[in-house]
Amino acid sequence: MAPRVAITGAGFGGLCMAIQLERAGLSSYTVFEKAGDLGGTWRDNSYPGAGCDIPSHLYSYSFEKYASWTRRYPEQPEILGYLEHCADKYDVMRKIRFNTEVLSATFADASWRIRTAGGTETFDVLVMGVGQLNRPRMPDIPGIDDFEGTSFHSARWNHDHDLAGRRVAVIGNGSSAAQFIPRIAERVEHLDVFQRTPNWVIPKPDAAFGPLTRLAFHYVPGLQRAYREWIYRYAEGTLYPALAQGWSAGLLKKRAMDHLRDQVPDPELRDKLTPGYPPGCKRVVIDSTFYPALTRPNVDVVTDGIVRVAAKGVETAEGLREADTIIFATGFRSTEFLSPIQVQGRDGVSLARQWGGGAEAYLGISVPRFPNLFLLYGPNTNLGHNSIIFMIECQVNHVLSCLPYIRKHGTMEVRPEAMAAWTRQLDAAMGRMVWGNGCQSWYKTAEGRVTNNWPGPTTLYRRLTARPPLPAYSLG
Ligand code: NAP
Repeated sequence: MAPRVAITGAGFGGLCMAIQLERAGLSSYTVFEKAGDLGGTWRDNSYPGAGCDIPSHLYSYSFEKYASWTRRYPEQPEILGYLEHCADKYDVMRKIRFNTEVLSATFADASWRIRTAGGTETFDVLVMGVGQLNRPRMPDIPGIDDFEGTSFHSARWNHDHDLAGRRVAVIGNGSSAAQFIPRIAERVEHLDVFQRTPNWVIPKPDAAFGPLTRLAFHYVPGLQRAYREWIYRYAEGTLYPALAQGWSAGLLKKRAMDHLRDQVPDPELRDKLTPGYPPGCKRVVIDSTFYPALTRPNVDVVTDGIVRVAAKGVETAEGLREADTIIFATGFRSTEFLSPIQVQGRDGVSLARQWGGGAEAYLGISVPRFPNLFLLYGPNTNLGHNSIIFMIECQVNHVLSCLPYIRKHGTMEVRPEAMAAWTRQLDAAMGRMVWGNGCQSWYKTAEGRVTNNWPGPTTLYRRLTARPPLPAYSLG
């Protein structure tokens, strides 16, 4: 009998798993989705200007190429539309249980007990597709509750709150802020951007695809594949070496410095916006409209430290900056993988406790003492230079290749020795990467351990995940 598979999350990861099971003729799966719609991060992040800075033709499943992309870089509604298209085409909607949050998952008697508000169900395999950026992080600034105006997080945008003519404070200046600031700056009366640390920014060569280009993608055999391959190789061949502090690191820095010089004529503002750490240490912002928005007369970049939020605005060491709206673009609780789901493995061991020093998983997928559990976009599988969808597909292929062993032996669990060897290899590779180099970021824990990023080329990751390395696992 085919294993019964529980999948949590109907974003890019969970949907990919469901679709590939469906394509393999294994329809004994259920997708649990806590929200009322699919899309994961692309459902949650609907702020003005939300989009992806990885080109559309690469930021999509390899098995479902899409000639209809309207631009080189996709915007959120189009990505969500793509995911809905995939769910419909591969007929997985019927298997998604919306508004059903998984509260806990417990391994007992060689199976997983999945508890939701509606009760407990049993599955043979559990695939977690909850992502790394699913829980907004509110900053621990005192006084947030004292604010008398309207406030919200960028990932929970308040579309009912008209920003026209408002005095707005944006706290944070990462990729999310860089995308919505240009869209709101022209509408608000005044905008204060509270920047704690500057980011490196490089241009985004976005453009609409004209009708002829779209026709060509549709009808010219192999064109989409070739274009996708070219983008992939470019990212892998030039951006990855920059993050590994190799030959292109200097070029990346020059590109960012040139961009800053070209777009910000005021030397004082340029100084404020110049980072003091190497590009790539934090996620590089890819955007051509962010700097021009910051040079507008109604926008101030505030670098004085925030002391507290007050009833009428944001107080810094220099005094009160009045605001009637505060937008927290303060990122996500990225190192708390799978939280708040309570996951218990063999002998009642708690995953949260096992991961006390930082999340880790063999190949980013399997965890010792948690048989038949597979993570998608798990620890150390995030990228700063290429498409996460590529990584998710590698993980889903890996899960599919493990299923016959589970069918035959009942359980499959990564050995602690394999996990320890994997961690040693990661640590060694991590030493080369730029992420440890003088910055704090969502890639790492408060103690400085990089738990989120993959430190190698993605070609290596594909090779490592292509089939289960059997000696690493104990079966049955
Ligand atoms: P983020 O990169 O984590 O940025 C959070 C921002 O909030 C930072 O500027 C941070 O400052 C600031 N901040 C946090 N706590 C603060 C505090 N107490 N006081 C003042 N400032 C504070 O979050 P994000 O912009 O939402 O982006 C997260 C990730 O999502 C991105 O890195 C990217 O991977 C992904 N994303 C991707 C795209 C895309 O196009 N592919 C678009 C949007 C987001 P510090 O830097 O000083 O910590």
